[in-house]
Formats: sequence, C-alpha cells, structure tokens
Amino acid sequence: MDTAILNSKTALIVVDMLNDFVTGALTCENAKAIVKPLEELVTTARKHHLTVIYANDAHYKGIDKELELWGDHAIAGTKGAEVIPELAPQQGDYVVPKRRYSGFFQTDLQLILTELGIENLIITGLHTHMCVRHTTADAYYWGYGIYVPQDCVHAFTTEDHQSGLEYLKNVYGAHICTSDELK
Ligand code: ZN
Repeated sequence: MDTAILNSKTALIVVDMLNDFVTGALTCENAKAIVKPLEELVTTARKHHLTVIYANDAHYKGIDKELELWGDHAIAGTKGAEVIPELAPQQGDYVVPKRRYSGFFQTDLQLILTELGIENLIITGLHTHMCVRHTTADAYYWGYGIYVPQDCVHAFTTEDHQSGLEYLKNVYGAHICTSDELK
C-alpha cells in the first residue's frame, strides 16, 4: 500500500461513529473493535495534516424516512448523535451532519472537498454495507480515489461487513487495506 496518500490532498472521513451506534439505540457490538485502530488512524491523519471530516447522522424526528426502518436514532441535538468521546472532533476538523445514508446527499461535504482540493478519501466508520457503502458510492461518482481500511469499518454482522467490503472493492474500485498499511 502506498503511503503516498498521507498528504493534504487526502481527507479522512469518519462515518457515524456516534454514541447511538456504538453504545446507544442502535448498538453495534462489532463497532467496539474498530474504535482503537480508528483512534490511531485519526491521530496519524492529523500528524500528516490530512483533513478529518466527520459525516454524522443528525436525524429529524418524525420526518426522516430512515427512522421508519431503524427506529429513532441519532436525533439531531441529542447525546446519541454525538461522536463517541474516544474520537471526539478536534479544532480544525469538519463535522458534516447528514439525514441519509450517504455523507454526500444534501450536505456540504462535496463543497468542502472541492474547496480543499481533496483527491483521495480514506473512508471509515459504520456500517460497511450501509452508510459507508453509500458514502463510497457518491465518492466514486465524484471521482475520488477511495481507500477503506478494513479494521476501521464494521457492520452489525460479520457477513454484512465482509460482503460490504467485497462490494466496495468490486463496484467502486475501493482499495481495501488495513490501517497499519496507511500509517
Ligand atoms: Zn441513520
């Protein structure tokens, strides 16, 4: 794996590492396993001056369609919608609220990436086959180079995680790697 992407033209995207997804309303037991490697990767990213962007569910109760499928979670303004303490955003990071699976849909993520001259994205977080997948799809449509460290994404089941990774690789040409390969 080339570490040549550890530069200012790369952004690290952290998707939905929120209290509700790790310990709250939609707890994903597998999420706990990615906290430590992701914490280290974020530290590495900041050290190399990568842009760190959080794409966070921030749902509107009563109108967001996703809530019909999954029940109330990550309601805007609640504790559940906050990034877990271990990965709390720092000064200089960007926090992009989203109301759909993709971090790009009706958010200003694409505008931020354009303004910063970003060419490559390292996409991490939850869940491999849903919000990570839909965010990766849009990243592919916009022409970004895509890197997914497999120890920094996960899903409710190992099957969903594994098939999700396969899909990202086969359909969007994502480079599936490990976080160690990026350091
Ligand atoms: Zn959601």
